[in-house]
Amino acid sequence: MKQGETSLCPVCHMDIDNNNSITTEYQSRIFYFCSEQCRDRFNMNVHLYIGGRGIPSPKQHGEIILKRRTLKLEQPVTDEVAEKIKSELHEMMGIKEIGIKGDRVNIIYDLLEATTLQIEEKLEKIGNKVSSGLGEVLKRAFIHYVEETALDNLEHNSNTHSHH
Ligand SMILES: [Zn+2]
Repeated sequence: MKQGETSLCPVCHMDIDNNNSITTEYQSRIFYFCSEQCRDRFNMNVHLYIGGRGIPSPKQHGEIILKRRTLKLEQPVTDEVAEKIKSELHEMMGIKEIGIKGDRVNIIYDLLEATTLQIEEKLEKIGNKVSSGLGEVLKRAFIHYVEETALDNLEHNSNTHSHH
């Protein structure tokens, strides 16, 4: 691609500059991303974002998988901190709605763009860890498993179709 050209981030479909350094190579093609979040998502399930043999991928034909979760924080936060968390989370791709009350973060997001694991990592990065209580840890482990399985199945199905 030429300098100054733009393309779409294959994960969130935002316009990006191709001088951007967040890239990955797949089947001898260079892909450009708006963020590390989108690159990581892409690398986990490539066939959700790129089609094959003229058949569009789930993302390319506009699929959205909205999920609603409640994540429990290690401790309740003040309204001021809640506002800060909201604005940080809204910088992520695929986040549709956030409500925070005490130690509960209610969030709606598009699983094709963001996973619970990525949201937890973001919370931790900005200094608001999710609860390490055993029940919460187990609940999240189950959510991670369910999300991974759902994405793998969707990817496998679209990949299978592309070979017919
Ligand atoms: Zn993106």
